[in-house]
Amino acid sequence: MARKTWRSPPFSERSPDNFFAQRHDIRRPPCGYGKYEDAGGFAEKGVIRKRRAGRALVALVYPNTRIVGMSSLGFQTVYRLLNERDDIVCERAFIPGRPGKPAGCARTVESGTPIRNADLIAFSISFEVDFPRMAQALSDAGLPLFAKDRDESHPLVAAGGAACFLNPEPVAPFLDIAFIGEAEPMLDSFLDRLDPAGRGRAKAPLSRAALLRRIAAETPGIYIPSAYSVEYAEDGTIRRMRAEGDAPLPVVRQYLADVSAARTRTVIQARHTSFGDAWLMEVSRGCPHGCRFCGAGFVYRPPRFRSLDSLSRTLAEADAPDHVGLVGAAVSDLPCLRQLIVPEAKSRFSFSSFRADAVDAEFVDVLKRSRLKTAAVAPEAGGERLRRVINKKLTEPQILAAARRLAAGGVPNLKLYFMIGLPTETDGDAAAIAGLTEKIRAVFLEESRKIGRMGKISVSLNPFVPKAFTPFQWAAMAPADVMRRRIRQLRGRLRKLPNVEFHADDPKSAVLQALFSRGDRRAANLIVRLLENGGNWPQTLKQADPPPAFYALRERPADEILPWEIIDQGVQRGYLWKEWQRAQAAQESPDCPPDGKCRRCGRCGGSGGTDRESAASMSPAHGLQGHSPADHG
Ligand code: SF4
Repeated sequence: MARKTWRSPPFSERSPDNFFAQRHDIRRPPCGYGKYEDAGGFAEKGVIRKRRAGRALVALVYPNTRIVGMSSLGFQTVYRLLNERDDIVCERAFIPGRPGKPAGCARTVESGTPIRNADLIAFSISFEVDFPRMAQALSDAGLPLFAKDRDESHPLVAAGGAACFLNPEPVAPFLDIAFIGEAEPMLDSFLDRLDPAGRGRAKAPLSRAALLRRIAAETPGIYIPSAYSVEYAEDGTIRRMRAEGDAPLPVVRQYLADVSAARTRTVIQARHTSFGDAWLMEVSRGCPHGCRFCGAGFVYRPPRFRSLDSLSRTLAEADAPDHVGLVGAAVSDLPCLRQLIVPEAKSRFSFSSFRADAVDAEFVDVLKRSRLKTAAVAPEAGGERLRRVINKKLTEPQILAAARRLAAGGVPNLKLYFMIGLPTETDGDAAAIAGLTEKIRAVFLEESRKIGRMGKISVSLNPFVPKAFTPFQWAAMAPADVMRRRIRQLRGRLRKLPNVEFHADDPKSAVLQALFSRGDRRAANLIVRLLENGGNWPQTLKQADPPPAFYALRERPADEILPWEIIDQGVQRGYLWKEWQRAQAAQESPDCPPDGKCRRCGRCGGSGGTDRESAASMSPAHGLQGHSPADHG
């Protein structure tokens, strides 16, 4: 059989047209056309089926339910990118089971192949809470959990996704490879270095370990955990991180500079996702507002918006879907939004998010045209001071004006997002959430009465979890009992309000999330214990070393080496520290300006995510030993 070509066209040269022309053995087009089919009990259209025929099999695994996984545009995009290569068959798998409850080896949806028989198992991880499920999937597949215990007879195990490039350290010991950054600029350069004959062998006769080290040295953004070692001090903090050989330290996050060149949209339309039947289209990456609690706001910098031309062409390919979901950190910031949603548009539009200060008369008009039934507004905190701490840059008059305009514009329901346990929060700050909700309800009711229609207001309260690479990465998390008491008080007060629903996430599960969001490599042992203990968290936490409080409740000093600093996100450490100081003084910082001249956080001014200057200044003064990316030519 003729050997398949391993090279693929550069990302920017691909289009659905040349894709169709080149591929003769795909039984489903990749663009959401066609009829729904039954794929393993789920109604889907756009499923890509390719014959194996000498190609490498990648099992793309989302370690959660199929509904959650199919709601991820990132997961769908990687599925498309991998299948666009002639030398690869990519098939999906999901892990709906609970950690500690063995469920047998997961199989791919498309061909029913056990994932252990794939050449590469690639996990897509959007949320840290899915780290234990990832380990369970490896265990169920009969694979050694730790990368050091696997050899050439096993598939390579990789992971990518937002949770993974925010802080991959809690699962680093399980991984052969972690993708640090956005998939588009690095997927091909990584795959081009592997042998399609399978099992991740090198083209040249290299051992797997040697191949991985070579990839680490040659491929920006590819993190090979086995090429690094971490030394801990007696107090449990990190004393030193070392890179072996030519592996770069830190590993520089990659990002797609020109998002308009890539169309990120639904590939497989599934009837059952978190977004219902919506056909999703990403309109932007990153966010210019710099909310200090938000990981995505810092690791997707700089903010990038797609052009009207790019979005219009993507929409045209989709053949006028009934319902289009626009996805982005703040969709209302999209400069061409009003031109995109023209009055004559056939589709109904919905938004993953918009800011209250964008709700002017013109924007309400856009919402009306999209027949929006529920608008989500995120004040995050009840009082002005705490909103300044988190750099939300929203005033109470702006929030109330937005509620009034939305109700007057005929939006029947409102969803309000708040956080509990934010840094510097007092009992009074928490109580202010109820106060603001009462005021919002009053104006919403007043306007709704005028048009004779009043829906409901849902208040959603999420415990704050400090995230890596944000100004709050040094902050202590509020103890669970403090958050629980404040939630109880809020529930008691809001329960009495007609038309208001209240939901709060459990602070205990937020503490578990915090273990992973700021955990180090030792957290992998905790995951192994959890599986051994049948998923019993209380028992596992009792055995944890260091204890959960070490990760969750401890404020970090300025000179502590943080586990995730093995990565360079391009945002300077000094900038984040200054933002942390400003937060404690309740001082706001400005948005990213659109003029392209700003150098404030260090992210802009480089190209394509290999900004050498920022890489050097990101490293703490001590503790990192190895090759800076600036050492390489
Ligand atoms: S350098 Fe300025 S514009 Fe660029 S991401 Fe940082 S703050 Fe935003």
